[in-house]
Amino acid sequence: MNDGYELQRTDAKGEGVLATRSFQVGKTAMVGVIDRELDHNHSHASQVGEKRFVLHSGLIPKVNHSCEPNCGIRLNASGAHDLIARRPITAGQEITFDYAMRNYSVDHFAAHCQCGSPRCRDRITGWKDLPAERKAEYHGFVAPYLTDIDNQPATEQPPRRRGCRRSLTRSRRPARIGRVKELEFAIGLCSVHYELPALIALTRAGRITPEVALSHRFALSEGPAAYELFDSRADGVRKVLLDPAR
Ligand SMILES: [Zn+2]
Repeated sequence: MNDGYELQRTDAKGEGVLATRSFQVGKTAMVGVIDRELDHNHSHASQVGEKRFVLHSGLIPKVNHSCEPNCGIRLNASGAHDLIARRPITAGQEITFDYAMRNYSVDHFAAHCQCGSPRCRDRITGWKDLPAERKAEYHGFVAPYLTDIDNQPATEQPPRRRGCRRSLTRSRRPARIGRVKELEFAIGLCSVHYELPALIALTRAGRITPEVALSHRFALSEGPAAYELFDSRADGVRKVLLDPAR
């Protein structure tokens, strides 16, 4: 049976798994099946939970890492990893994913990464060492327990003050949904510094547009009028930007 992929020798990296047909974005290139549980992490181990490691059967353990992969990870109903195309894949292309999409920590690849991508980060690292911009790019294509770990309360918590019952967390889960004028927004606690790199990357990529919060722009010299407008709540004012370039 032709599954749509096969093991072949690749130019630079030894064996690799190559597509034998095309896969559109979002399609399952390889279906994961767990062969057996492992009691620790190693170079062929797939992390399938915060503290669970398994060996996949078939060719998935042979799929090479890339720092610019054409596939991502999706946990299937059996708890194994399916490889999902995040870019169009044509027949003859090597199927790759970023090992950081699967394992929180990767310590066993001492040599330099040989993926050959212009965006190669030189060392094969786990999710915990992945830059925030890359995490944002991989959104939707990583194993869910990795983002769950990120969302857990930070271990370093600020000292509690009397009357302050909540500790600072990295949670992205909104505590509640608010609505002011036509803006709906999520309210929650998060570390601004932790979230900023991902937000900057998403803004640069045009995936989020913070400008929707702005209702008015003024030159710096118009500051007093801007404050008066904001104070009066007139003209549907929401957020005012004082723009030095105006
Ligand atoms: Zn690389």
